[in-house]
Amino acid sequence: MTFLTDAHIHLSDEEFRSDMPYILTAMAKMNLRACCVSMDYPSSCATLALAGRSSLILPFIGIHPEKAENDPESVATLITSNSSKISGIGEIGLDRTYVSDEEGFRRQKRVFEAMLSLAEKFRKPVSIHSRKTLDEIFSILPSFRLGGSLLHWFAGSKKQLKTAMDMGCFVSYGPAMVYSQDKQVLFSETLEDRILLETDGPVKFSRCFGHKTAQVTFLPSVLFCASELMGKSYEEALEILGKNTNAYLGV
Ligand SMILES: [Zn+2]
Repeated sequence: MTFLTDAHIHLSDEEFRSDMPYILTAMAKMNLRACCVSMDYPSSCATLALAGRSSLILPFIGIHPEKAENDPESVATLITSNSSKISGIGEIGLDRTYVSDEEGFRRQKRVFEAMLSLAEKFRKPVSIHSRKTLDEIFSILPSFRLGGSLLHWFAGSKKQLKTAMDMGCFVSYGPAMVYSQDKQVLFSETLEDRILLETDGPVKFSRCFGHKTAQVTFLPSVLFCASELMGKSYEEALEILGKNTNAYLGV
């Protein structure tokens, strides 16, 4: 049985805490796994604890650009001491929304590069936040010898998508693709072996998702939409996604 894997979700977020027993049960019943990404030191610790409760949780730890003002040392130490336990490093990346000046952006870059060098050192895949910073990220990535690199919630132009493909990156699409034509067009331009699916919960999605907090259990709807766009059956698409996930995770 092939697992369907959520390539990017924040299950260590407070929002999910009280429902976690039900979430884990639903994941087991529905053959779902999740790359559980973190934001900072406390959420990285929470992610590691969650991974201790279920093998369906694939722990990713790191510093999100929103939290890059914090000292990266504690997370770096956590990565080093848990290098055999973690599946990857994330959520990491760049986003000017969270800084007020160039010095803030430079700090984000330093933290991002510190995380990438740990990914290189421990040969771990990375989950990258690239909102409006794709070009900067494209200029940084070649300085590191990385395995799987995921540009999560890909929202670039067709040209940027082409660059991502040329650089060997994976890109992921989420619940918004079910109702957004723009996302569907981008999806159709993506190389089939570089596609991953995600929910990015606890983000809330509109339209058919009714502004509810995204759950791992939204994923089959996203896969159904993806299979239609790929012109494949649901099972065939599941098989392809399974292979892509293993290639991304390096397993
Ligand atoms: Zn995220």
